[in-house]
Amino acid sequence: MKRTHVYIGGEWVRPACTDVVEVENPATEQIIGVVPAAGATDVDRAVQAAQDALPHWAVLSPAERAAYLDRIWHYLDRRREEIARTVTLELGTPLKTATAIQAGLPLTVLRSYADLAGDYRFSEWVGNSFVVKEPVGVVGAITPWNYPLHQMIAKVAPALLAGCAVVLKPAELTPFVAHLLADAVHEAELPAGVFNMVCGPGAVIGTALAGHPGVDMVSFTGSTEVGKQISVLAASTVKKVALELGGKSANVILDDADLVTAVKVGVGNAFLNAGQTCTAWTRMLVPHSRYEEAVELAAAAAGKYAVGDPMCAGTRLGPVSSARQRASVLAHIDTGLSQGARLVAGGGDLPSRGHYVPATVLADVEPDDVVAQEEIFGPVLAVIPFSVDEEAVTIANNSRYGLSGAVWSGDENRALAVAGRLQSGSVDINGAAFNPVAPFGGYKQSGTGRELGRYGLDEFLQTKAIQR
Ligand code: NAD
Repeated sequence: MKRTHVYIGGEWVRPACTDVVEVENPATEQIIGVVPAAGATDVDRAVQAAQDALPHWAVLSPAERAAYLDRIWHYLDRRREEIARTVTLELGTPLKTATAIQAGLPLTVLRSYADLAGDYRFSEWVGNSFVVKEPVGVVGAITPWNYPLHQMIAKVAPALLAGCAVVLKPAELTPFVAHLLADAVHEAELPAGVFNMVCGPGAVIGTALAGHPGVDMVSFTGSTEVGKQISVLAASTVKKVALELGGKSANVILDDADLVTAVKVGVGNAFLNAGQTCTAWTRMLVPHSRYEEAVELAAAAAGKYAVGDPMCAGTRLGPVSSARQRASVLAHIDTGLSQGARLVAGGGDLPSRGHYVPATVLADVEPDDVVAQEEIFGPVLAVIPFSVDEEAVTIANNSRYGLSGAVWSGDENRALAVAGRLQSGSVDINGAAFNPVAPFGGYKQSGTGRELGRYGLDEFLQTKAIQR
């Protein structure tokens, strides 16, 4: 796979410099292709193209803009298999999961935005004021590698529906699926400049976008550390900022829960995409009265997540994304053990090639331990005991993050009471289904703003009141 151009002004054009980024298959450690490493001057060109396109795009009706989203959806829908295989190759997500989530979820989200235009109120009367929602302007979208197409669609689709023009900077580790999105936009004949894509290093392209005077809003998904830097850069021109950042979510299992199901689903959630999921329930909180039983169940469930070739149909646990990520995850496991955690699943032999980490369960973790506080972003689950519901809430909230979480109980009202006290942007009760149009986002250092559904669209709109 080789891509040599950036997408600016409705065309594939040569970037200003000839540097490239090599893309590795984390399962084989082989280089599978290269993409351009564009520079700050390419960002300038892309922002200019977006600014030029904005007035013409913003005056189209929401239904006209939604029709373009529909065309992009049809193109991507025909390429589901290619999307899944591409993400498996560049990220290592097992192909079955990649088909369902890496390809399926973004298509669901894109569909939801193509369908939202007719329902959403872009204007209303409030007393003698005519209140209109107008596009924020030029949006810089900076996205990570863990659910690459989903994270791009969760920004690009609502931004376009709102009437914004976009400059996308995808993650370096997963650029090929981003190229499929740009191909789709091109095929859909979106007006030139409404969507632009510039690949390259975060420190160069991301920084240039976040600080650019021609960008009106930055929508960023990634680590909390980089999110803070983006906020500082964006402040220089008082840009609107939306941040979807890290998480360390708690799975609170109360003493009357269906323990077998709660632990099984909890382990599956923690190890999805090799644990590289911002919403992963990486802290399992279990009452003392059922603690050893839960630890045994978790260890047994983890045993079913043997690492393997992500291209094979039966594989549930692929590699993590890079050698750097693997080293970081293994260092966290060592830190956990040195702080007194008990290894109940993990260790053992691994393939000689590939950035594999075994499915790891650490029991007897203390709430303040490093592995209970830091986002590890690998297949590592910490099991923590508690005495009463009150203590579970305290432990769950003892985190700088607040993205997601779960509560399990035989009594739904009891679960709801606990869920209501968790400081996080979303909570699932008894394994409730993921809702692709529910607001998604964080409390505390997990971010600001919301994605998905009408809440996600709101982010890309600004509100004007006209009195008469
Ligand atoms: P990252 O912060 O390193 O990178 C994210 C994006 O920012 C990439 O495109 C990267 O190139 C760019 N970037 C890197 N340094 C930059 C800089 N100095 N200025 C501007 N841009 C820069 O994160 P990652 O490693 O790609 O992704 C993993 C992180 O993302 C995890 O912390 C995870 O929790 C988080 N995440 C959050 C959500 C969410 O919705 N809350 C979703 C997925 C991932």
